[in-house]
Amino acid sequence: MYTAESYDVIVIGAGHAGCEAALAASRMGCKTLLITLNLDSIAMMPCNPSIGGTAKGHLVKEIDALGGQMGLTIDHTYIQLKLLNTAKGPAVHSSRAQADKQKYQKYMKHVLELQEGLTIKQDEVVSIDVDNGKIKGVSTRNGAYYGCSTAILTTGTYLKSKVIIGEVMYSSGPNGLASANELSMNLRELGIELRRFKTGTPSRINKRTVDFSKMVIQPGDEKIVPFSFMSEVKEIRREQIPCWLTYTTDETHDIIRSNLYRSPIYNGKIEGVGPRYCPSIEDKVTRFAEKPRHQLFMEPEGEDTEELYVQGMSSSLPEEVQIAMVRSIPGLENCEVMRTGYAIEYDAINPMQLKLSLELKDIEGLFCAGQINGTSGYEEAAAQGIVAGINASLKTKGREPMILHRSDAYIGVLIDDLVTKGTKEPYRIMTSRAEYRLILRQDNADIRLTKIGYEVGLATEERYLKYKKRKEMIEEELKRIKKVFFPPSDEVNEFLRKYESSEAKSGTNLFDLMKRTEMNYFITGQIDKDRPDLPIDVCEEVEIEAKYEGYIEKQLQQVEHFKKLEKRKIPDYVDFMNISGLRIEAKQKLSQIKPESIGQASRISGVSPADISVLLVHMEQLRRRGER
Ligand SMILES: Cc1cc2nc3c(=O)[nH]c(=O)nc-3n(C[C@H](O)[C@H](O)[C@H](O)COP(=O)(O)OP(=O)(O)OC[C@H]3O[C@@H](n4cnc5c(N)ncnc54)[C@H](O)[C@@H]3O)c2cc1C
Repeated sequence: MYTAESYDVIVIGAGHAGCEAALAASRMGCKTLLITLNLDSIAMMPCNPSIGGTAKGHLVKEIDALGGQMGLTIDHTYIQLKLLNTAKGPAVHSSRAQADKQKYQKYMKHVLELQEGLTIKQDEVVSIDVDNGKIKGVSTRNGAYYGCSTAILTTGTYLKSKVIIGEVMYSSGPNGLASANELSMNLRELGIELRRFKTGTPSRINKRTVDFSKMVIQPGDEKIVPFSFMSEVKEIRREQIPCWLTYTTDETHDIIRSNLYRSPIYNGKIEGVGPRYCPSIEDKVTRFAEKPRHQLFMEPEGEDTEELYVQGMSSSLPEEVQIAMVRSIPGLENCEVMRTGYAIEYDAINPMQLKLSLELKDIEGLFCAGQINGTSGYEEAAAQGIVAGINASLKTKGREPMILHRSDAYIGVLIDDLVTKGTKEPYRIMTSRAEYRLILRQDNADIRLTKIGYEVGLATEERYLKYKKRKEMIEEELKRIKKVFFPPSDEVNEFLRKYESSEAKSGTNLFDLMKRTEMNYFITGQIDKDRPDLPIDVCEEVEIEAKYEGYIEKQLQQVEHFKKLEKRKIPDYVDFMNISGLRIEAKQKLSQIKPESIGQASRISGVSPADISVLLVHMEQLRRRGER
């Protein structure tokens, strides 16, 4: 072992979490080292060739608003863009892109290589050095010891990972890459609780061997909505590549049912817990037996490859069964399977061992982010990566951590769910998890987060000024349309009749007019003579604020109440086991999770409102006795 250079921040793993963490730390001026098993798998997408989707699109926008990289990288490497759920309210509008996987990786790797203050190394971290409850450094397989002030574990699906295909099981990372087999033991010795999780992926087939005449084309949107607030539509607009829709058949279901006994999920070969919201095809056919067919999307893996990803057919059945299964699909009768689907098991930590900053409660300076924390998804990983990168950097600067609350961001919902409630299976973000989703829209992520990203030292001056300008334009326009008044007139009523909107009996202003179902910002332009020429995203923002004013008001009041409880901090030295009147279950849960506020305590399952009252009385007594 030789002693190499020391760093402020060391990031272990260059997956989606590691890339954001390393860029955040180095862009905040920290001397940063990124160590990863294989430089050619930086930002690799081992599963679906897409970024975003319902709620995941919100995360990408929030990462971008804070000054992160994922949004910019996908804007420069997408092959198809869509805005999902546009038939529903703006709270669930979510961007989704089909990515060119190879180009995405190359682009992200180059951004990392160009980053000042960031050193990248290909190696395996085999142990973490901790002294007196504080991180000291890391050791690698190549024999190096790197000292550090903080370190971030983002090892994804590689820790003691095993690939399973039917009766076949072997030690491997995703896509035939090496797994990391030494670190898990060290983490356990450090007292970190690990458990086995699993996920799975479908086959990849050769496009040349597919009969698309039996499928339904799925083109991208005409209207381009960038992921990054820094991207200009005209710079990222490009020709899009379609996906294709087909379905499973009775034959497919019969093949699966008659081979279930060979499925490692059903014969117990797999011990890891899988994601409920990303079920394998075996699960779908078994759990939704009443469904005659399941949707499958053929998703191109990139522009310069014939590989197609069979979305919706994740499986770990034996290879020959998978081939028969795939060839029972309309359009795939003669297809060539290039990569067989598989399941992968790996070690992950129990995230309830973490603070809301993603620092381990029992090892100072060691942070965890991504799949290792029990989540599933590129976006979920990147969201944790940027938070861990920011907080590791703030720690090296002796500054308070950046905590995003459930009322600030989907990132706040994600982390609070993990740390306060834990997860028994790979956790996936969903809009239903966010109680304040009407104000946590993807369109206003910059309004909610860019100032925070700027104040912690990550968001650039250029991004900050762009956000301020957009915010001012929105506020100015909202002020203006509240002053644009229309007394009842034939002209206005003729206009309203044209859109089958009821006549205006009394005077109204433009803001209120826009609330009408038949009206929107663009239609009212016909009677709004002095309308300034504003960017379309500003107009859309103004329209949402007008149409949903009442609901937004109500949600903001709920947030005020929520914030009051979040501000009631619980001092570190409170000994929950000795608070009389607390139920034993509450004492145990509070002592295990060590909530940072009354708000967080009230979200712990097994802690009742009565327990919270007892806790509040106890804290008041401490305050009176001047012990706070
Ligand atoms: C087979 C498969 C199927 C999946 N299916 C889905 C799905 O259906 N839906 C979904 O949302 N997500 C799915 N995912 C998950 C998705 O890939 C991950 O959520 C995402 O990649 C996690 O990002 P991460 O940064 O946490 O880890 P990863 O992307 O896994 O990256 C971890 C990085 O750490 C490095 N590393 C690990 N250990 C060490 C070490 N000791 N020393 C140095 N470097 C190390 C690795 O080389 C790698 O670069 C799937 C993943 C796999 C493998």
